[in-house]
Amino acid sequence: SETTAARFQLPSGSSGWLTVRGAREHNLQNVDVDIPRDAFVVFTGVSGSGKSSLAFGTVFAEAQRRYFESVAPYARRLIDQAGAPDIDSIGGLPPAVALKQARGGVSSRSSLGTISSLSDVLRLLFSRAGTYPDGAEHLPAAAFSPNTSAGACPTCQGSGVARSTTEDLLVPDPSLSIDGGAIAVWPNRGWQGLNFRRIADELGYDIHSPWTDLAPSDRNQILFGDDEPTVVVHAREGGNKNPYNGSWQSVERYLLRTYAKTEAESQRNRLEPYLIVGPCPTCRGKRLRVESLAVTFGGYDIAELVALPLSRLGDVLQAGLEAQGRARGQHGAPAASAARALVKDFGGRVDAIIRLGLGYLPMDRSSVNLSPGELQRIRLASQLRSGLFGVLYVLDEPSSGLHPADAKALYEALRELINAGNSLLVVEHDLRIARRADWIIDVGPRAGNQGGRVIFSGPPDGLERATDSVTAKFMFPDGPPPTHLLRVPPAWREFTHLSRNNLQNISVKIPLGVMTTITGVSGSGKSSLVTEIIDRVNAENEAGAPRQRIISIDQKPIGRSPRSNLATYTGLFDTVRQLFAGTADAKARRFTAGRFSFNVEGGRCPTCQGEGFISIELIFMPDDYSPCPTCHGARYNPETLKVLYRGVTIADVLAMTVTAAQDFFAEVPAVNRALGVLTDVGLGYLTLGQPATELSGGEAQRIKLATELQRPGRVGTIFVLDEPTGGLHPANVRALIEVFETLTETGNTVIAVEHNMDVVAASDWIIELGPAGGDRGGHVIAAATPPDLLAVPGSVTAPFLAQALP
Ligand code: ADP
Ligand code: ADP
Ligand code: ZN
Ligand code: ZN
Repeated sequence: SETTAARFQLPSGSSGWLTVRGAREHNLQNVDVDIPRDAFVVFTGVSGSGKSSLAFGTVFAEAQRRYFESVAPYARRLIDQAGAPDIDSIGGLPPAVALKQARGGVSSRSSLGTISSLSDVLRLLFSRAGTYPDGAEHLPAAAFSPNTSAGACPTCQGSGVARSTTEDLLVPDPSLSIDGGAIAVWPNRGWQGLNFRRIADELGYDIHSPWTDLAPSDRNQILFGDDEPTVVVHAREGGNKNPYNGSWQSVERYLLRTYAKTEAESQRNRLEPYLIVGPCPTCRGKRLRVESLAVTFGGYDIAELVALPLSRLGDVLQAGLEAQGRARGQHGAPAASAARALVKDFGGRVDAIIRLGLGYLPMDRSSVNLSPGELQRIRLASQLRSGLFGVLYVLDEPSSGLHPADAKALYEALRELINAGNSLLVVEHDLRIARRADWIIDVGPRAGNQGGRVIFSGPPDGLERATDSVTAKFMFPDGPPPTHLLRVPPAWREFTHLSRNNLQNISVKIPLGVMTTITGVSGSGKSSLVTEIIDRVNAENEAGAPRQRIISIDQKPIGRSPRSNLATYTGLFDTVRQLFAGTADAKARRFTAGRFSFNVEGGRCPTCQGEGFISIELIFMPDDYSPCPTCHGARYNPETLKVLYRGVTIADVLAMTVTAAQDFFAEVPAVNRALGVLTDVGLGYLTLGQPATELSGGEAQRIKLATELQRPGRVGTIFVLDEPTGGLHPANVRALIEVFETLTETGNTVIAVEHNMDVVAASDWIIELGPAGGDRGGHVIAAATPPDLLAVPGSVTAPFLAQALP
């Protein structure tokens, strides 16, 4: 359309346009748009409108495709499989780097240190310039990594944990004889148990008297002895009485070896009650060889340093450097200058991370315990240090997980990337960031097939005149923010002496039957607080105290393979399958509801086993999925697809959006109720079969919320949510606030960790943690209603909340 062509001047400093023509990826409706280069460009629009399809699915995907074609022509085949974007052309495209928040979660063994490369630098520092014991040889950098054989503690193979056992665990009832089953860990009814009893007998141990009557030395030998003799066993009972060679091992060895060897979950579960898990005695849980742990810098070994918050680590290394300087000549000049260079490099990298508000994190924080927002900011910090220019960066929601007080530093970091000569495309819902961009591309007007057009492309001020833009109504409101009527809670729950992670032995009171938001800068302890509350309530429930159901609705994926989707997760697919099985056609073919499942054999496509996709391994990229060559994504075999329910196949149903399905199933209450709640939480644009692997953390969370909402009899439940507005446009946030109000009005309690001031303003009670992150956080700064919070001195939330209150 003509509105999308360049009507505005290039922003100052921009070297030209990136011209997108005929973009049709996903819901995009043949979009033409000109995007300024070397500028800060923000994509806005309601969830599902097509922002990501344009920024990531089209612009970034095309840049990546060209890059791989240029470096490795053979990669073309892989890229074709993974799918090139549906587009006519893009002109003026620089090489691109995407910093996308992981969908489907992270599963690797990486940590903050490895993702940021800080680990490499620190290991090099220890190798080259560490303080070694007198006479010790300098170690290679790999010796400081628990993931290499050069570094891993040999006792625990670098895991840091040791498993051991005791007589009490192995022989829980010492009044029994060995023959009577004293050694509980043996599979006493199986052949192995019989075998051990026979060998013990052959070795001369008394297997008929109670365990307590055995000599202490015999008991010790049987349980913990080193000898592993082989003896001829003369079987006296059982079917086969032929003599055979039996080999003995102590009970402890049998236990530890079986545990280490087995792959079976059931076997591990059986053995675990006999094991004590503790820190490895050799490395004391530090995972490294003792020789490596003997090397220090600034008085700390490397394991101690990686456990320190980054905000302290830089100082410790600096102090270490100065101490080495004073102990002049210890390593000679080359080591000293290597140390200086490495500490400087390290300090620069750490500063970049601290600036993005992550100074509270230690290097050894496992990536599974990092939020997607934290991960993205760590990668962003590495890019800030990389010194690249002429690159196009594409990011989604960099503000996620950030209190507005932290957002300024983020904005400045993004500006720095542009000042260094790069281009920046950001998908973002935080209008304070959008307002300060050079350019806004508003996609919409609505989600799914009611979106996919560029409503506005130009400098932020111009958006005000885009009358059909939903974003404009929020960016340029024509009245005060909505008024929230504070509710008086019928009761309160107090939680005292909370000290998980950085919580400073605090007490909080939570009002029941209303909504509480927990806010504060990142790392202040919000997640720790809600996790502790959940554990306490659950522990009380288990102890038999008055039951109060508490449910945590988190952002973890609803499944890890394309096999999981919202239709199966919410349970609505069960009803749909029954509808298909009930058709005359299905009955004639004797197809039951199981035939319409893609999770079991019968009706599903045999090639992809009902996934609709096959996994392909890409050399340079994470594994990707491509459509199944047999069923082309339909998931079912042709016979199953012959059955029609009111004119559509089961695959057609999975391809419907929630909104379309709501019309189609209007007459089926069970399905319609589930779909209605999905719409309420802003997910009308998702298709029923959209694989879990394609859902963002926020979408997964809202699917879980919807699943809970459609359950009957949930009155009196405490709902705990961590940043439920992630990925939501202000218009979607309004709708979500209504869902929370319905929940509390029907007698439930909502506790949300939240940075979105519209949600904070619409809550009845606020708990603000602070004042800073990590060691310097964990205190209650304020506990008040929204209007009262404005008067709390020291509240970092107050100034931002003031703008969201009428
Ligand atoms: P936004 O970024 O604005 O939230 P998206 O670009 O993610 O929106 O989605 C736009 C539309 O494209 C939605 O209807 C969504 O369901 C659909 N979509 C997104 N990803 C895929 C995909 N991998 N395959 C098919 N459709 C998709
Ligand atoms: P917030 O939710 O306010 O961002 P968190 O509760 O996640 O803060 O973190 C508070 C402090 O506790 C931080 O110093 C953080 O590094 C630490 N912390 C959080 N999770 C863990 C964990 N799994 N193990 C150890 N420390 C943690
Ligand atoms: Zn060890
Ligand atoms: Zn298939």
